[in-house]
Amino acid sequence: MTHAHFRPGDQVVILKGVAGGELWGDAMTVVTPSWHTPTDEDGWRLRDPNGGQQTFITAHPRYMVHLSRRCPDCLIYLRALEDYLLPKFADAHTEIDCGWYSTTALNQLVHIADVRGGR
Ligand SMILES: [Zn+2]
Repeated sequence: MTHAHFRPGDQVVILKGVAGGELWGDAMTVVTPSWHTPTDEDGWRLRDPNGGQQTFITAHPRYMVHLSRRCPDCLIYLRALEDYLLPKFADAHTEIDCGWYSTTALNQLVHIADVRGGR
């Protein structure tokens, strides 16, 4: 997804894994544009309603999928991810966290593909 695809107030999900034959993740609300330092690109500040100490995190738009709006871009992305992932975990009956994301000390969410060595 691109940065312009999202607006403050949008409900999004950060997909984290597979559970019972479906994708699962954390639902969050888009708050405001914010610089995503791990990728040096435009990101979004998100509010996690169950976040506790990490109520606000900054995510890259490509980590995000719309929850509230069933828009074609997000549906295509979801389908592709399902086709790729669900067969791998077809026998899993528990929640599988694929471990794609970590959070930096500055509450920046980082995908494993974006973690840079030594920074
Ligand atoms: Zn969308």
